[in-house]
Amino acid sequence: MKIERVETFVLRTPLGADTFYSSQARFPERTSLLVRLTTTDGVVGWGEGGQYGPPEPVQSCIDDVLAERLLAAPDASPGVVWDLLYSTTRDYGQKGPYIEAISAIDIALWDILGKTLNASVSTLIGGRFRESVKAYGTGGYYSSTDFEPGRDLDRLSATVAGYAADGFGMLKVKVGLLDVRDDARRVAAVRDALGEDFTLLADANHAYNSSSAIAMGRVLEHYGFQFFEEPVPPEDRAGYARVRSRLDIPIAGGEAEYTRYGFRDFIADGCVDIIQPDICVCGGISEVQRIATLASAHNLRTIPHVWGSGIALAAALQVCAALPLAPYTHVPRALQNEPVIEFDRTRNPLRDDLLASEFVLDDGRVRVPDGPGLGVDVDGDVVERYLVRSGDSGRVRV
Ligand code: CA
Repeated sequence: MKIERVETFVLRTPLGADTFYSSQARFPERTSLLVRLTTTDGVVGWGEGGQYGPPEPVQSCIDDVLAERLLAAPDASPGVVWDLLYSTTRDYGQKGPYIEAISAIDIALWDILGKTLNASVSTLIGGRFRESVKAYGTGGYYSSTDFEPGRDLDRLSATVAGYAADGFGMLKVKVGLLDVRDDARRVAAVRDALGEDFTLLADANHAYNSSSAIAMGRVLEHYGFQFFEEPVPPEDRAGYARVRSRLDIPIAGGEAEYTRYGFRDFIADGCVDIIQPDICVCGGISEVQRIATLASAHNLRTIPHVWGSGIALAAALQVCAALPLAPYTHVPRALQNEPVIEFDRTRNPLRDDLLASEFVLDDGRVRVPDGPGLGVDVDGDVVERYLVRSGDSGRVRV
């Protein structure tokens, strides 16, 4: 297997009136960096990287540095390429754009391997424990009016009730933009809107220091939330460990961590109960398996973070299908020991329109595509519609 063409695509779409806020940032647009690889046999694979910031630096890592090395590789198997690209960029690329670029390439190589062998990625990485994955919705973001505490509670209640009406039984909402007392009113409103039996999760996007995180965690415990994501900044491992030791609610995190080496330290420092590697960030499908193995050895749960286009979602579904229960029980319990899929509900045409067939919620679950590779087809017209910059390396087939 040898790669002869490497193409990159920066996609961008403004959100207009659907602009939203986390504790960290305003989101006026959605972006993706896609990579399309073509083998000498004409097999095409798609990958995605560059999830959080501007995708152009990730594109540059591929176009200006990694593409040449990939094109020169005599064997383009995912594990072989991963080691080649990481080992030759280690001195300057242990975290950030280089690893996101390697993630995108790795996902595309797994897509190609599956298409070459006529097997889904989940089959290739060990087989499927499940044909569909229970989904949790991510929503309940802040709108601009939320800067005035309490003013937007009715709208928040209506929004989350809408998710429940759409079939979700599990929802993750945002905290951390307001102070703890005002966010507690939002948390209470969400619980009140959805009832006692609805599974709720909260995400602070590392808005707190350990003291304020513990205060917020107690609020979340009071309202029966099931995990508390990114309570403190990813660099504050002592803060993570303090929060985790003082609270009963499971602590989740890791979307801003990279490779097995980053997760080794994150786990060893006792930061979390649930690790959340993003497959398009942490090193791709090859590396997320190594990270999940590390977590398994520590009896921690792995729930991949998902924030991107339909390709990111397809990759996460393939990985979630192949994750064993953690730990095993005779009857699986979603979230407790069975992986769940993050199903972002903010408006994103790159997620909903990019693929020939959209992922849909069915009885609270999303089916794992069973075609070869990632099992999805990319709509070239949609790529063209949102394309702002492309790159093309290698020999064009004639
Ligand atoms: Ca998050």
